Amino acid sequence: MNDFLNLESKLLEIEGSGLLRRRKTLSGSQGTRITIDGKSFLNFASNDYLGIAESKEARDAVTKSLHEFGFGSGASHLVVGHQSPHDNFEKAMAEFLERESTLSFSSGYMANLGILQSLATKGDVIIADKLNHASLIDGVKLSGAESKRYPHCDLDALEKRLAASGQNKFVVTDSVFSMDGDIAPLPDIVGLCQKYEAILIVDDAHGFGVLGENGRGICEHFELTQKQLPVLMTTLGKALGGNGAVVSGDKKLVDYLIQVARSYIYTTAMPASVAAGNLANLKLLMDNNERVEKLRQNISYFKMGFEVRALSKRVQLMPSNTAIQPVVIGDNQKLIVLNEKLESRGILVGAIRPPTVPKNSARLRVTISSGHSQTQINELLDILAETI
Ligand SMILES: *Cc1c(COP(=O)(O)O)cnc(C)c1O
Repeated sequence: MNDFLNLESKLLEIEGSGLLRRRKTLSGSQGTRITIDGKSFLNFASNDYLGIAESKEARDAVTKSLHEFGFGSGASHLVVGHQSPHDNFEKAMAEFLERESTLSFSSGYMANLGILQSLATKGDVIIADKLNHASLIDGVKLSGAESKRYPHCDLDALEKRLAASGQNKFVVTDSVFSMDGDIAPLPDIVGLCQKYEAILIVDDAHGFGVLGENGRGICEHFELTQKQLPVLMTTLGKALGGNGAVVSGDKKLVDYLIQVARSYIYTTAMPASVAAGNLANLKLLMDNNERVEKLRQNISYFKMGFEVRALSKRVQLMPSNTAIQPVVIGDNQKLIVLNEKLESRGILVGAIRPPTVPKNSARLRVTISSGHSQTQINELLDILAETI
């Protein structure tokens, strides 16, 4: 390769700052226990919040669909790749989310690029929370609109930016912040969007399946209507234990995205079996809210146990009532050492460092699932108490 790339020295620099990342290869399915290099770990690192990434229902549906529809979809949605499982899933999802229409994308990342590129354009302004997910940040760049950021969940700062912008305005935010676990003050944000005639776009990747009595997500949690929250992005790879994403809103929105969203148009449709698996897991949520309720109990149980062991005297547990429970360590190297200790004790949690989070806020990202038992949560807490 050409020398100017200097990949080796760039890699060394990344490693020197304690930022080199390594993939772990699982030899089996996702779950509360996973196997890596022949060793079994207690898993508090996945986003499978409802413990259904390995559900029997999804496996059966995928298998059945594979026999009926084959493996690859063979084309993009607008050519001949759109099969009935894609359609069935979109309809069921619209019903569950209580939205007029939904459109599925192959991933949340692509959905966010598609929304922002389609709806915002040069001359518009997009006002975004500073801690928004990377896919939203990239979508803003792709749109060509002017970008303004406001300090995390700071409503006064948001209002100032809205008031100072004369052009067409969008406000973009995560519902539940992926590395902090806190919830955006959406009723207030909705009010500001109405006052300043801005269009609100919300990414509910970590709210769906977690928030609201039935796990419908951020809209159920705050009782927000489609009118108040016109553009909603929901991912399927997290609490739904599947893959892909949907954008939902009124029929006009979906019809328009089908025409212009480049990340929808210029890509092969996801395999029909994936849509069938997504639908099978969605049906689990539609049937009852037991898993959602159990997740809520597990989150409280973890937080209570953290207090009981006086762990918050030593490290900060960020204020969060969602499945994402970050424990702030600060220094990158300290986090790495701690994380290695946890791994040697058979515990896996997310070890999140800059640039994913701000400098000096490296953290353990503990994620809770409804699949965890209280015994497993106690095991995590006891080992944290011994190692932190
Ligand atoms: C994971 C995530 C995405 C991307 O979704 P994928 O389906 O994994 O591509 C988008 N937004 C947020 C907030 C996320 O956490």
